[in-house]
Amino acid sequence: SLSDRLTGALKDLRGKGRLSDADIDRTSREIRLALLEADVSLPVVRTFIARIKERSKGAEVSAALNPAQQVVKIVNEELVGILGGETRRVQFAKNPPTIVMLAGLQGAGKTTLAGKLGNWFSQQGHTPILVACDLQRPGAVSQLQIVGERAGVPVFAPHAGTSVGGEGELGISSGDPVEVARAGVEEARRLQHDVVIIDTAGRLGIDEELMRQASDIRDATQPDEVLFVVDAMIGQDAVSTAEAFQEGVGFTGVVLTKLDGDARGGAALSVREITGRPIMFASSGEKLEDFDVFHPDRMASRILGMGDVLSLIEQAEQHWDAQQAEATAAKITQGELTLEDFLEQMLMIRKMGPIGNILGMLPGAGQMKDALSQVDDKQLDRVQAIIRGMTPAERDNPKIINASRRLRIANGSGVAVSEVNQLVDRFYDARKMMAQMSGRMGMGGVTNRKN
Ligand code: GDP
Ligand code: MG
Repeated sequence: SLSDRLTGALKDLRGKGRLSDADIDRTSREIRLALLEADVSLPVVRTFIARIKERSKGAEVSAALNPAQQVVKIVNEELVGILGGETRRVQFAKNPPTIVMLAGLQGAGKTTLAGKLGNWFSQQGHTPILVACDLQRPGAVSQLQIVGERAGVPVFAPHAGTSVGGEGELGISSGDPVEVARAGVEEARRLQHDVVIIDTAGRLGIDEELMRQASDIRDATQPDEVLFVVDAMIGQDAVSTAEAFQEGVGFTGVVLTKLDGDARGGAALSVREITGRPIMFASSGEKLEDFDVFHPDRMASRILGMGDVLSLIEQAEQHWDAQQAEATAAKITQGELTLEDFLEQMLMIRKMGPIGNILGMLPGAGQMKDALSQVDDKQLDRVQAIIRGMTPAERDNPKIINASRRLRIANGSGVAVSEVNQLVDRFYDARKMMAQMSGRMGMGGVTNRKN
């Protein structure tokens, strides 16, 4: 499998400077294959890989990961970023009702989605109504009525049998979907539904009449959201379809359906890249509950087809963090913390994982944790500048930092000598305090945690 190829392809070269071009090229080739196998369109693959190579070139080799894992990690982060970079919630109208129009090819899953969306809005306390504007396909209106019934959401339809108000014939003379849409919105206003979901007709392929009808409905109702519904199984065709809909109708968001199938979901990346529109929802089955807001991380892992590799990477990093945390905790108990450790810990406050872990290992260290987490970023920058201005020997053994060294460090890092003094003092205080505290608390347990 791809995972095996990738993990087996490269030797362990942890912690050796920067990722080499060879590492990046080899891994990129595999990623490229993975993307193509996932049906990502070729131009999108090309730009994506170029971006990955660029980013990987500057990356330092991680101590926790081998180069292949690291490139995969970068790829995954980029994918998640692109897929969810501008994830946003439904745009609600300032003056209800909020109008959501569904557009897409026949069979994409619009009508099914109408029910799911209706259900979803209801669960959030909204009072949606569905409007049946597919007058093309025989049975489309009654399909929506069944869907609405199942979801417990009323349906506005052009003929008798509508569940709205139970009034039967609503007096719409023509079978004109634009009129139905308009009347549906009016009805929603009258009955104070705060969300209107407009189901529209699709065709098997893209054609002008379909686009004209959809854009007429759009013009007549001025939707707050136009959702382009696309079947994940159509793979490469998703691109041309999305382009046609973007040009013909325009849309504000994408819904990916049939993710319960075996499609790897490359359509998601292609559509996102090419139209710039966010993927907002995902549908994964015929039942009402087979529906969720879109999760970029799940999709990224699906597209890469490397769920195993990704979880291995995560484990490796967690393991590494834990190892580091234990090593530092051991140093703390023995009063051997260096300035390098000190800096590292301060920087980690920004990420707030590991420092929490380390301090968490010291019973009663809660107060210190609070104090440390209040250090602001500017202060951290200065501390960082000062420590970076020290030689490794100085960081390792602050005792050697005499007056002339202090002056050199201050000049080199653009601070006053008093600040260097302050930092060194603060460091000694912290080291003493931490060692005392851990000694008092009987911290033998820290180093034994590994068993
Ligand atoms: P429309 O033509 O765009 O309105 O599409 P429909 O809502 O009628 O859906 C077409 C077919 O796909 C129906 O048989 C649906 O039950 C099915 N369908 C819709 N969404 C999904 C999904 O997420 N997964 C699966 N497996 N089937 C779906
Ligand atoms: Mg339909």
